Amino acid sequence: MRDGGQIYRQSFLEGLRPDPDLTVSQWSDMYRMLSSKASAEPGPWRTDRTPYLREIMDCMSANNTTQKVVFMAGAQLGKTEAINNVVGYMIAHAPGPALFVQPTIEMAKRLSKQRLESLITETPCLADKIAPARSRDSGNTMFSKEYPGGILLLTGANSATGLRSAPCRWVLLDEVDAFPSDVDGEGDPCALAERRASTFSRRKIILTSTPTVKDMSRIETEYLASDQRRFFVPCPHCDHKQWLQWKNLQWRDGDPKTTAYVCESCGAHIPEHFKSEMLRKGEWRATATSEDPRTVGFHLSSLYSPLGWKSWEEIVMEFLRSKNDAPLLKTFVNTILGETWEEEVGAKLGADGLAERAEFYPASEIPRGASIVTAGVDVQDNRVAVGIYAWGGGEECWLISHGEVYGDPAGSKLWEQVDDLVLRDYPVEGGGTTRVSAIGIDSGGHYTSEVYTYARSRRNDGVFALKGQSVRNKPPIGKPSKVDISYKGKVLKNSAEVYPVGTDTIKATLFGRLKHNEPGAGYIHFHAEAGQEYFKQLTAERQVVRYVKGFAIREWKKKAGDRNEALDCFVYAFAALNFLYMRFNRATIFEQFSRKLGSVPVNSQKTEPAPVESVYRPQRQRKARPTSSFVTNW
Ligand SMILES: [Zn+2]
Repeated sequence: MRDGGQIYRQSFLEGLRPDPDLTVSQWSDMYRMLSSKASAEPGPWRTDRTPYLREIMDCMSANNTTQKVVFMAGAQLGKTEAINNVVGYMIAHAPGPALFVQPTIEMAKRLSKQRLESLITETPCLADKIAPARSRDSGNTMFSKEYPGGILLLTGANSATGLRSAPCRWVLLDEVDAFPSDVDGEGDPCALAERRASTFSRRKIILTSTPTVKDMSRIETEYLASDQRRFFVPCPHCDHKQWLQWKNLQWRDGDPKTTAYVCESCGAHIPEHFKSEMLRKGEWRATATSEDPRTVGFHLSSLYSPLGWKSWEEIVMEFLRSKNDAPLLKTFVNTILGETWEEEVGAKLGADGLAERAEFYPASEIPRGASIVTAGVDVQDNRVAVGIYAWGGGEECWLISHGEVYGDPAGSKLWEQVDDLVLRDYPVEGGGTTRVSAIGIDSGGHYTSEVYTYARSRRNDGVFALKGQSVRNKPPIGKPSKVDISYKGKVLKNSAEVYPVGTDTIKATLFGRLKHNEPGAGYIHFHAEAGQEYFKQLTAERQVVRYVKGFAIREWKKKAGDRNEALDCFVYAFAALNFLYMRFNRATIFEQFSRKLGSVPVNSQKTEPAPVESVYRPQRQRKARPTSSFVTNW
């Protein structure tokens, strides 16, 4: 008879003690069952089916020295199941506190109900470790799964509370390109989540995503900082190892059925039936040096999708369907090629493209055809940018000047220089001068009170304070609200006004109009002196997609560190034009202004400022004053 100790020792040796060298792929091949509900190929998991996943998963093995895995990939590659395998391995083999982050709480809920539920219930060794969700005090809830040795917390990147959980050795970040850039004002959700693991020297972090827009893509930024591994597969003809690229996929006469891969070395056509063999013989190779040697990065397009999943023929068919439609093509590039998309605005109308259409009209002179001049003023901590634009019928637009004044916005000197730019006479082509009719100035920075004071004291010159609202479907300019200002040490209640400005709406209008190729309504002219930096700033922002409650919304983003004041100034100058629309008959406003061009300067008859509260009450003023008398009003 053996005693208890012997039995214990025996069973310990037989496998109760976890094998320290077991990898994620080995564990998956031994234990993982694919559910018939969630998988097209139910039954035991086989890493051989998707050989490229082996190394990616194994970098997440407990014994592997890698701390962070970056996986940028297209669709139909098994990425989701690979992550499920990591979760299963972690629970069964290397338990510890873990955090699994989805783009939103809603998506985390879906993950919990669908993916994790079938992962746990259909893989027996996991079902043993986690109590069914039904039982009371089971430690198994929607957002947390308890198991011996740890707990898995699920949350959304849109919840700062969820990301501030206890320290976690395992951090899984899924579809990071759909994460918001900032969560509840506490910063980058990825950084918040990764910080949870910082106290663990043997931490395991994995970031995966289909990429989105160039320069805005988290997963691409992370991949570019990694060792940038590519999956090299041998040509069945010449044995040359290469990674599969879209440009080498060829087909004849527009017929996707003829699709084959052209070897980059011998030029021979490789029909798709060779793919299984190529994948089996494939290997990951680093193509760069990682900034942190404990970080590894993998990129994979759907060209690697195993036989029976997504074929090269289907991929070519999808390309042919989407090639003439930008949104469809973007989806193709992101989800099939697993690459970032360069926004059309960025690609075709980037700084270089716009500079090419600059014209030779003199800067700081109002060209023929324009009749209204507006200005947009952007206030930074050490400078003020001023953009002056002229407008004609159909809102044809001319850049008149864009410049910066350096100085302290808290002092008066800087504002005097701004006066010199926005309150002066501008020569009009063909003779005469005109003034800037409306000047929108941003109050959203650190000098709100200075801006209010400046705008209030120059109200009669058409200066107004504004505040950008990057919310979709807002009008270019809305009704003003009263705000307090401190003036000479006293707080004056309701003594200034601030106008809400729909910055997203205006940016969308601007970028739409930058695509116009023919001068006329909506066209924007740039003079040749504008310079590269101006165009760079004007095109500094792109639209990106983020998810709110699982719904995609688009928003404007600039690259970190890039300057965008030229764009902001344009937005405010456009808001200023709309500010005039609130006061004049929109149908005839350009005619009205053009009649007076070259005659009496708008402000020349002004001797004393009008009483503060008497001007710029949009609704009442329109009725009270005949629009033709505006010349004397300002
Ligand atoms: Zn070859």
